[in-house]
Amino acid sequence: MDEKPVLVRRMAWPESASRPVGTPIQPSVVYASRDPDMLDAQYEGQIAGYTYAREGHPNATVLARKIDQMEGAEGGIVLGSGMAAVAAVLMGLVRAGDHVLGGDQLYGRSLRMMRDDLPRLGVATSLADPTDAAGFVAAIRPETRLILLEVVSNPTLRVADIAGIIAGAQARGVLVAIDNTFTTPRGFQPFVHGADIVIHSVTKLLAGHSDATLGYVAARDPALARAIYDFATTTGMTPSPFDCWLAERGLYSFDLRYDRAESSARALADHLAGLPGVARVIYPNRPDHPDHNRAVALLGDRGGHMVSFEIKGGRAAANRLTRAAPNIAFAPTLGDIGTTLSHPASSSHRGLGPEGRAALGISEGFFRVSVGMEPPELLCAEFEAAIAASQVEA
Ligand SMILES: *Cc1c(COP(=O)(O)O)cnc(C)c1O
Repeated sequence: MDEKPVLVRRMAWPESASRPVGTPIQPSVVYASRDPDMLDAQYEGQIAGYTYAREGHPNATVLARKIDQMEGAEGGIVLGSGMAAVAAVLMGLVRAGDHVLGGDQLYGRSLRMMRDDLPRLGVATSLADPTDAAGFVAAIRPETRLILLEVVSNPTLRVADIAGIIAGAQARGVLVAIDNTFTTPRGFQPFVHGADIVIHSVTKLLAGHSDATLGYVAARDPALARAIYDFATTTGMTPSPFDCWLAERGLYSFDLRYDRAESSARALADHLAGLPGVARVIYPNRPDHPDHNRAVALLGDRGGHMVSFEIKGGRAAANRLTRAAPNIAFAPTLGDIGTTLSHPASSSHRGLGPEGRAALGISEGFFRVSVGMEPPELLCAEFEAAIAASQVEA
């Protein structure tokens, strides 16, 4: 008994006839196989087995299978961020000489990838207004490989003519990828509408607690899915097991969170519309929304959890508003458990400049709200007080 313990040897995992109810976390970077024949069989897909975490790990698989179910997808993968998912699609499926067409109000970094990165690699890109399907389809070129769309734009909440664009793209053999982050699978399911690829920033409402940065992508065609997976694995877009675990935990309450956020968003939109100091309110389900009919046709009674509004009084009033609402995080994100407020002119859309913003209708008084889980009466009261304070010049 005087043998020294060999501390570098791993201990066996304790036997337990009962199983854990919660999902275990598996941080192991590498997996040991019995012999080379077994490793061969794993790589050939004859037996299931992980080898190296960059290529896949159980917590990523569990999360991906869950989002697959929500999207009606098969074989989706989870990546280290929403932008990793966008990049894996945009870069994993194109080659020099191809053209990529995007909606003109995509997420800021997606626009930047289209503007700066794809052209550097020899891929031409252009943008068009996806609320006008005829104009958008007319922008398809013979060398267009892929279209990237979001259903509801940020922050102006315009609703794309998804049906018209997909019909035009299919007739021309062009792939359509939909970034479904804003709408979530509860609001919209891209595959049901004929899209080829669905993308998510899981960071937002899916994970839902602002503590995990993750992305998801699924393709209907297994060959495309394979190309996306290989690109993501080669470029190291691997998600952390712990983040996957957090996001999977978040999904248990996703339906409840979504429904709560949505009904509160609707209540807040209607409340804001009646307040002095508010110049306009944008919410897809309100009859005064510019794409109201399309919103109803595409999303049914799902208006989503995002509300935008504009106050009178420009930047000075905007400063007063955020200062007067200390309980509402002034932070450029969305989908958190708590309500967050963003000011596109000073954050997501600052790079556009005043003219670029004016063209989109984004003034200094423009705010976007990601509605959280607070009691709706409390939110309405806090916004009412903050907006009233914003209108009083110091
Ligand atoms: C946040 C967001 C992304 C990027 O996701 P990250 O997880 O932050 O990398 C992409 N698309 C949309 C619509 C987003 O809101």
